[in-house]
Amino acid sequence: MHEYSIAYDLYATARTAAREHKATKVMKINVEVGKMAMVNPDQVVFLFDTIKEEDPLFREAVLDCRETEPETRCLCGYAGSEIYVCPKCGALPELVKGREIVVTNIEIDVED
Ligand SMILES: [Zn+2]
Repeated sequence: MHEYSIAYDLYATARTAAREHKATKVMKINVEVGKMAMVNPDQVVFLFDTIKEEDPLFREAVLDCRETEPETRCLCGYAGSEIYVCPKCGALPELVKGREIVVTNIEIDVED
């Protein structure tokens, strides 16, 4: 399942970062999901909650998935968020951004 591997990747990424910083717990993971990634953010959050269940480091961790609008551009000079038809010339615009799934921030608690 597509969403499962994404959820697991996010968990693994956060876990590596948390260990590198000697975190005692992970509080929040902020993720941007491009609308063109064809991912259901609710599903990712649900699966993430299942995966983290047995990890004490993640007991209070919240996954915050934010959907981001796609960015496109066209040879005619158009730049915007139309993905199928360029409003200026009618051609198919090129997708610049919108398929990525990016961890933007991880909030952790560290021992003194
Ligand atoms: Zn155009």
